[in-house]
Amino acid sequence: MSINLDSLDKLVSLAKRRGYVFPSSEIYGGFASTWDYGPLGAELIRNIKEAWWRDIVVARDDVVGLNASILMAPKVWEASGHVEHFSDPLVECKECRRRFRDDDFAGNTCPKCNGDLGDIRQFNTMFKTFVGPVEQQAATAYLRPETAQSIFVNFRNVQQSARMKLPFGIAQTGKAFRNEITTGNFLFRTREFEQMELEYFVPPHEDEASFEFWITRRKAWYEKYGIDAQNLRVRKHATEELAHYSLGTSDIEYRFPFGWSEIEGIARRGSYDLQQHIDAGAKDLTYFDNDSGQHIVPWVVEPSAGVDRAALSFLCEAYREEKVPNSKGKEEIRTVLRLDPRLAPIKVAYFPLVKKPPLQELAHKLQDQARFTWNTFYDETGAIGRRYRRQDEAGTPFCVTVDYESLDDNAVTIRDRDNLKQERIPVTDVIAYLNSRLHWSKGQ
Ligand code: ATP
Repeated sequence: MSINLDSLDKLVSLAKRRGYVFPSSEIYGGFASTWDYGPLGAELIRNIKEAWWRDIVVARDDVVGLNASILMAPKVWEASGHVEHFSDPLVECKECRRRFRDDDFAGNTCPKCNGDLGDIRQFNTMFKTFVGPVEQQAATAYLRPETAQSIFVNFRNVQQSARMKLPFGIAQTGKAFRNEITTGNFLFRTREFEQMELEYFVPPHEDEASFEFWITRRKAWYEKYGIDAQNLRVRKHATEELAHYSLGTSDIEYRFPFGWSEIEGIARRGSYDLQQHIDAGAKDLTYFDNDSGQHIVPWVVEPSAGVDRAALSFLCEAYREEKVPNSKGKEEIRTVLRLDPRLAPIKVAYFPLVKKPPLQELAHKLQDQARFTWNTFYDETGAIGRRYRRQDEAGTPFCVTVDYESLDDNAVTIRDRDNLKQERIPVTDVIAYLNSRLHWSKGQ
């Protein structure tokens, strides 16, 4: 029997205890809705981005990468429509002066004090800063609210330097910033977050087929890395919900403990973005189509995912409290993170059964064979059962234990986190065993 999460509280406390996620600036009492990834969280985030990059860029001939700067010419955001449109409806309570996002609740009384709410006004959620030593209007710049625009403004540079032919994509991961009116649900909505965005450029007539392709493909990616299909759904936006640039959007939603919510949006942006930059007088962003001998403005399909929301969904999905027998055969509860081994922060932990030099040396030797390929861990303190439990909570999929017999038979025990099976395998097979379970193409 196992228990999954019914609220985020247990996950938030495990995340802190094990070093996945800490409240930011905690020694000064924290800073609203900002989080820091600790030793395990930093690895998880790297692995999620790696999994995305491998599927989207490395495994495909038609997609190349980009790593653009966060600060860009303010004209980019004027042309893209963000200065005018990137806003949320804000209401202020006349009594308690609290501010809310109007579409967060129904009715026109304050959800905190029941006071009257004032008129709705649009609040632009782009963060402003100043470039250079003078704080004046002319020096204003924005922290990017999405990574996508830097892909559009580099369209020609990338297409020509990488000699890409339509259809092709440009992918990028990186930080984005939004001065959200309301934040919350742990990593779900923060003001600083990371995105994984693909802009896939197509001839206009291929846009709908490409849109369907990417919805299917991206949903399958979450399943490949361990999310149960029952906890995923695709929600099509109603026409009145569509962003100003969108011809159609579908969200991939995950069933979080707080309800179904978006983890990725897939949008048909048409020729909107490239055309806006062309109209604003930027350099030519058209594509020369050899077949027709004409310059065209490609259309674009955009799968846009959040690293932090993906991390939260993988953690929620992985969390289990399970009844298992301990070494004396008695039942106890173990908390375990059943993360896909490729996403797990530590892939393998090495334990000498007891603190004796020949066992310690062999465990170290085996760890050294793996350490440049995977993130590994060595632990010789405490009873072996306790060491397994610590790794269960950390989400480590494999533990290799060296005992006295290992010195005679040159074999070790590999314990599998999920089915708790302990297999005896020759020392010379350990790397092959790990390789077969940690390969990025597995489940493709
Ligand atoms: P929402 O409707 O939840 O505000 P959105 O539709 O504005 O999200 P997009 O502009 O489509 O989000 O951004 C793409 C992805 O970036 C989202 O699916 C999400 O994973 C991530 N993302 C957007 N805003 C935030 C945020 N404030 N905190 C964390 N991740 C975010």
